[in-house]
Amino acid sequence: MARYIDANCKLCRREKQKLFLKGSRCNTDKCSLEKRNYIPGQHGLSRRMKFSEYGVQLREKQKVKRMYGLVETQFKNYYEKALRQKGVTGANLIKLLERRLDNIVFRLGFAASRKEARQLVLHRHFLVNDKLVNIPSYLVSTGDVISVREKSKQLDVIHKSLRKVKDHQYSWLEVDKAKLTGTILQIPEREEIPIQANEQLIIELYSK
Ligand code: SF4
Repeated sequence: MARYIDANCKLCRREKQKLFLKGSRCNTDKCSLEKRNYIPGQHGLSRRMKFSEYGVQLREKQKVKRMYGLVETQFKNYYEKALRQKGVTGANLIKLLERRLDNIVFRLGFAASRKEARQLVLHRHFLVNDKLVNIPSYLVSTGDVISVREKSKQLDVIHKSLRKVKDHQYSWLEVDKAKLTGTILQIPEREEIPIQANEQLIIELYSK
């Protein structure tokens, strides 16, 4: 499957918003957006963007898709799944994305970014309810326990990431740093998910 391999920071600059794609660097003054808050490319500085309604919706979709590190087909599949669920489709979409195992590994602090979390999951470092799961798109449910596999407990990358997490920030997750486990206490409501996006615009885009 096609993957984006160019510089991650360009994606933030394109969206003019921090997408937090590079771990702890994103919260420092080394963040590219702090220094170069303009669209990448030769004429980026001089380009004045005036978007049509479609353009605004498209940018919102691209932003959320990039935050979670997905390609178009995957993202559209989440939209279709959200549409089939009861409730508000936009909120359903964000809640589905949030339940991905790679996202949860990142939120628990076992990885510095979703990209790193995806790698760790693919490399078979995590168990869900004591069973090995190496599928980043695996959807977790309430009560699931995510743990680091016994032979992966010494992995420096996990400890390095955990050290950078000061206070645990998400009320729907419980982390045991000593045991390297995390529990999904509940599936969060949309308001509890710290994603700055207007998902309604994405729904309008796909509904055309
Ligand atoms: Fe985006 Fe992080 Fe790069 Fe800043 S450092 S531009 S938030 S990926």
